[in-house]
Amino acid sequence: MSCARTWMRKCVENHDICSKVSSSTSGIRRPMRLLQIGMPEPEKLRLLTDEAQSYKNLKPDYLTLSHRWGSANPLELTSSTFSQLKQGIEIADLSKTFRHSIKVAQELNIDLIWIDSLCIFQDSAEDWAREAPLMQCVYGGAVCNISAIASEDSDTGCFFKRNPSQLKPYDIQTQWNDGSNGSCMLYYPDLRRDAIENAPLASRGWVFQERLLAPRILYLDDTQLFWECHGLKACEAYPDGMPFSDGSSKERDALAALKLGTIGSTISSPDKKQLQRLWQNSCFDDGYCAGLWRKYLPSQLLWRADIHTIGHLRRSIEYRAPSWSWASLDGPIIPGGFSDDGIIIKILECHVRDISGDSTGQIHSGVLRILGPLMTIELQPYARKWYRFRMLIDRRWTYGFILWLDTDDPICNGSYQIHCLPILSDADSDRPERSPLTKCLLLLPTGKWPGQFVRCGTLTLESGEMKDWKGFRNIRNHDWLQYESRDDEGNCVISII
Ligand SMILES: [Zn+2]
Repeated sequence: MSCARTWMRKCVENHDICSKVSSSTSGIRRPMRLLQIGMPEPEKLRLLTDEAQSYKNLKPDYLTLSHRWGSANPLELTSSTFSQLKQGIEIADLSKTFRHSIKVAQELNIDLIWIDSLCIFQDSAEDWAREAPLMQCVYGGAVCNISAIASEDSDTGCFFKRNPSQLKPYDIQTQWNDGSNGSCMLYYPDLRRDAIENAPLASRGWVFQERLLAPRILYLDDTQLFWECHGLKACEAYPDGMPFSDGSSKERDALAALKLGTIGSTISSPDKKQLQRLWQNSCFDDGYCAGLWRKYLPSQLLWRADIHTIGHLRRSIEYRAPSWSWASLDGPIIPGGFSDDGIIIKILECHVRDISGDSTGQIHSGVLRILGPLMTIELQPYARKWYRFRMLIDRRWTYGFILWLDTDDPICNGSYQIHCLPILSDADSDRPERSPLTKCLLLLPTGKWPGQFVRCGTLTLESGEMKDWKGFRNIRNHDWLQYESRDDEGNCVISII
């Protein structure tokens, strides 16, 4: 744990951005209830309540715990355990995950901790309703969130037998024939992402907000400890910071963790709405439009179906959102980006009409008007596989692309004639060493009037001359190309509904 203590100390002492974030949340109220470690006796823990002002004069630092409840049945705060918890209970009687998190708090020299199941009455819907909206304060106001990332349930604990060889970087001395020798470091670029986003805890809905709101997070993985604050991402193998950026920001990580639809299946819809609000409040001052953020709208438009559900996504039967929003589909999706880099199109108008006056509420209609280098393509299945296509572009067949259809509807309908709108051309953040890729939206005409489309998927051009989007303007489009208007440079104005 000395590693964790060092990360915490360095963050408090050296990270200007982290102290700014902390001071922005210092005015918020503390949780209604907190657990005090080592009181009234060293081996005990007691519940302090705001009502009794019992922690008014204590140091304000507290930790929060993100954990998975699982099927185990640990001690909870209920009307019958309330007085027992207030008087103090033996730490040894708690579940293993709780005991370990208390150990972490002690190692970090912090004697207050907030654990949801011990600080919110589990037998009171009223208490839940009162406390749930305050989660933002609870996690945002903590010194650090302890994330029991590898714990299956409350009996798994946070400390694991580990392989020490994974805790040090692999340095290799090369011996090439040409004598150009040196030392190389072998590094798995997805080390952090694999540990954090594929962990058992990541499938729990609330973890999204916990990750998003906590100023610092200490991940207790079964391979090693990971640290995340606004100033540093590190792990035991690389305590001074990960050697290469994995292309992710805190916001992106958080949204990736949410995976919107994926976790949507594990949380109820009011929770989902609450998360969206929190997300909106926490990350952007800018507008929210039909599930996407205006500030990064072009890259946000490039959400796609989750690979595991290709062919299983359906457009919702009842109108829920415009086709350019992931909210129009039933099922898991991978969200779009949060970047301005390499944007090709210009958003002329984004108009979303909501029903109730709440921009995160139900949507009546949504229209995007875009200026960009539109082109036509034809898709044809090949190799007798319904999911493999070749593409006719500029009168040549090409295979150098990745296609993500939102649903299999256009193929079922036999519609292989598709409009393609390049959105951005940028380096793949997952593989920065590769040359830029052009990412496009795939569109089908609505048939109502020229230049009005619905989205049907995304396409990434990986190779071939069309990878350079500038060539799109010179493309020999089919005679079925349609648009509202076209400028001198060949860019088209279209609408997507
Ligand atoms: Zn920091």
